[in-house]
Amino acid sequence: MSPMTKNYDLILVGSGLVGASLACALAVLAPAKPLRIALVEAGGDMPSYSGEQFDPRVVALTPASRQWLERLQVWQPMQQARVCAYRDMHVWDGEGTAAIHFSSADVRQECLGYIVENSVAVRALRERLAQLPQVEVLQPASVVDLRGPQPMQPDVQITLSNGDTLRAPLLIAADGAQSRVRELAAFRTREWDYQQRAIVATVRTSETHAYTAWQRFMYTGPLAFLPLSEAGDAHYCSIVWSADTPLAEELMDLDNATFCARLGAAFEHRLGKIEQCSERFCIPLRQRHAQQYSQPGIVLVGDAAHNIHPLAGQGVNLGLLDAAALAGEIERALVRNIPLADYSILRRYQRQRLASNLGMMSAMEGFKRLFGHRSLEVTLLRNIGLQQFNDLPLLKNYLVKQVMGV
Ligand SMILES: Cc1cc2nc3c(=O)[nH]c(=O)nc-3n(C[C@H](O)[C@H](O)[C@H](O)COP(=O)(O)OP(=O)(O)OC[C@H]3O[C@@H](n4cnc5c(N)ncnc54)[C@H](O)[C@@H]3O)c2cc1C
Repeated sequence: MSPMTKNYDLILVGSGLVGASLACALAVLAPAKPLRIALVEAGGDMPSYSGEQFDPRVVALTPASRQWLERLQVWQPMQQARVCAYRDMHVWDGEGTAAIHFSSADVRQECLGYIVENSVAVRALRERLAQLPQVEVLQPASVVDLRGPQPMQPDVQITLSNGDTLRAPLLIAADGAQSRVRELAAFRTREWDYQQRAIVATVRTSETHAYTAWQRFMYTGPLAFLPLSEAGDAHYCSIVWSADTPLAEELMDLDNATFCARLGAAFEHRLGKIEQCSERFCIPLRQRHAQQYSQPGIVLVGDAAHNIHPLAGQGVNLGLLDAAALAGEIERALVRNIPLADYSILRRYQRQRLASNLGMMSAMEGFKRLFGHRSLEVTLLRNIGLQQFNDLPLLKNYLVKQVMGV
């Protein structure tokens, strides 16, 4: 078939958690009913995991993210598939004695958050999208070229891998950390390599995780055990072991039994013996932040706009907040009859999200550096500070509520 040119009111690129949720949010807006929305996704269908098989990629969702997914009517199918609520969080300094314990009971909430397999969330969103006719899903199709608005052609134009051309006044890039749209549109970013890698895998431990998220900070990077649940069996965790690159490479080269033994020791055997470990994946860690989230006709959301260290498990929550803010601005434009790509709309979205994301990224950077310091004085001060923080329930609970968004 010869390539076609198609016109839309809005094009979204990327149907991951952020892009798919934004597409759902736009499609359910009453004033958006007449819009023609294209959602372009490069990948195929999401794999399905069940029983003792878990998706190695998980996200920690805050209660605020849950509320947003509930409004999109995808939370229930996600729960029916597999979601693990955690009630407590233990964080401790592996180079000292300080520890912090966060408890949902202290902030009068059912839980602190939820560990969800990425494929569970994305499948639920894509199934919901299939019920929303305004969204035309073009998949698998990836963006290979882009032309910004021109005086004679005010729409943004993209070319897909199959040769088709799509045009719309507004293009939203939700195509993840390696965003092709961000690159083609020459958005400037600030970025640096952490010189660390994250090893992710699923493990089975001899003791139950007690519906608790665990994180040990070491000089070489944090090690997190995130609870998973399969039919009430609470012995599975998703691990995210961030480590300086040479150490990560050494760990990746170990055979399974030796890796399990090293992992158990690094985790101080808090959950007993590591009985099994799935295939390991190793992901390079980079801090990246676009200096602007918008330019004429093009806007960035989610990982396309920002990547942070996984130590606080906040990446996707920030992306969902971007999506909610942009959906709110688009609704406002539709109600007031303002063009979707109007400068004021994109600026308002950027103003809401850029500073807030930068704040979270700076806080994470501070944490990473604080725990990466090897000097005795800093270790001592850090331990005293952490212990004091743990003993200040008002401050601690205030911060927990801020992160949870409640
Ligand atoms: C090791 C690790 C652990 C993490 N743990 C957590 C955690 O506990 N909690 C948390 O909140 N976050 C966590 N994160 C971050 C989280 O995974 C990301 O923030 C989140 O997945 C970003 O979602 P997104 O939809 O923006 O991007 P993605 O999930 O990357 O989705 C992008 C989509 O765009 C598509 N795409 C890409 N290029 C193109 C193209 N050219 N054309 C069309 N489509 C395209 C892709 O196929 C994909 O479907 C972690 C990250 C890492 C690396």
